[in-house]
Amino acid sequence: MQDTMRPILVIGGGPGGLEAARTVAALGHPVVLVERRQRLGGTPDAERYAKLTHHFRDAEEAIGELVASVTENPLVEILTRSEVTGCEGEPGHFRVTLTTPSGAQERVFGAIIVATGFQHFDPGRETQLYNYYSFPDVVTLSDMEAMLKAHQVVRPSNGQPPERVAFIQCVGSRDRQIGNEFCSKVCCGIASKQAIEIKQQLPDARVFIFYIDMRMYGYWENELYWPAQEQYKVNYVKGIVSEILPKGDRLLIRGEDTTMGRPMEVTVDLVVLSVGMEPSSGTRQMAKLLGLAQNKYGYIEAGGPTGLDPVATSRPGIFVVGAAARPADLDDTFATAGLAAARAIATVRQAAVVR
Ligand SMILES: Cc1cc2nc3c(=O)[nH]c(=O)nc-3n(C[C@H](O)[C@H](O)[C@H](O)COP(=O)(O)OP(=O)(O)OC[C@H]3O[C@@H](n4cnc5c(N)ncnc54)[C@H](O)[C@@H]3O)c2cc1C
Ligand code: SF4
Repeated sequence: MQDTMRPILVIGGGPGGLEAARTVAALGHPVVLVERRQRLGGTPDAERYAKLTHHFRDAEEAIGELVASVTENPLVEILTRSEVTGCEGEPGHFRVTLTTPSGAQERVFGAIIVATGFQHFDPGRETQLYNYYSFPDVVTLSDMEAMLKAHQVVRPSNGQPPERVAFIQCVGSRDRQIGNEFCSKVCCGIASKQAIEIKQQLPDARVFIFYIDMRMYGYWENELYWPAQEQYKVNYVKGIVSEILPKGDRLLIRGEDTTMGRPMEVTVDLVVLSVGMEPSSGTRQMAKLLGLAQNKYGYIEAGGPTGLDPVATSRPGIFVVGAAARPADLDDTFATAGLAAARAIATVRQAAVVR
């Protein structure tokens, strides 16, 4: 094979990896996509998301289209239930060991794109007083996505639709005590989106969102935040929740209303914890195996020598996209995936010219 056409390896088959593989192939270059799960589609598929912001598109359908764009492209080779277990070499010539269901094989790639994504913050950690693992009616954003998708928004304790639902923002994010000082970026928008969907499925329910401050990026302000308040009458309460306690067969939220400067107590039927994002175990593992610098939160350090390249890692020829580098929404993920695809192809061609 010509050195200029040496394939590019994409690790991770979520939105970031799929978009990177699709773009590499669209530019006429061969690509091998390695995914550790049996299915492609990443976290939106694994956690059964309902609708995607900000167009309220059915997640299964939108991600399905993306999956089809790579599975139907002859320039993309897909290896599921597979992992990278070794890597040596330099830009233009990386010798990679792939462990697949049919055994280990060594392959040569011109460049590598890491798209190993995120995992949700575990709200059961000891600093968290939300009783996620003790109270069935305390759920997370991803649990709620699955309920919305199934059109089954109910209290897990008794199977009844809730009359009052409360979202608690910044669970596991912006929290110095646990070392996650960063904002997870998507959860204010996702909570507002879910509040709208709850009101669509249960018009009589009252929905509260308890927040430190609402962070809506770009168009989400107009497309999610204002419709949630004005059209769907969702109650946004600026307050810090300190604990959740049982009250009869309901839940008592205790904290401080920071606008009014006084203690607050609200009784609800269902609590949704807006859990933030953290690097996935696969991201941490790949960073170590590939020798990529990580930041203090465990994400793969991006920026490159200039600090201005959002897809460059500390190792030339290896790029990072989406939620493996930072908390990211789909727009961020797709934008970095396209950039990484272009940079990876440029790397292969430049390395071939130098040689
Ligand atoms: C509750 C919730 C709802 C959301 N809803 C929206 C929304 O409506 N709109 C929006 O813009 N964003 C939304 N997001 C954010 C969105 O999910 C992310 O932007 C997106 O999933 C990031 O894609 P990714 O490919 O970087 O990572 P992921 O989706 O996490 O995909 C990573 C993939 O890599 C695989 N992998 C991991 N390690 C390895 C390994 N070592 N080897 C091989 N494969 C590996 C994983 O199995 C996975 O398939 C939401 C997030 C949350 C928390
Ligand atoms: S997006 Fe909102 S809920 Fe999520 S960490 Fe940032 S401020 Fe908190």
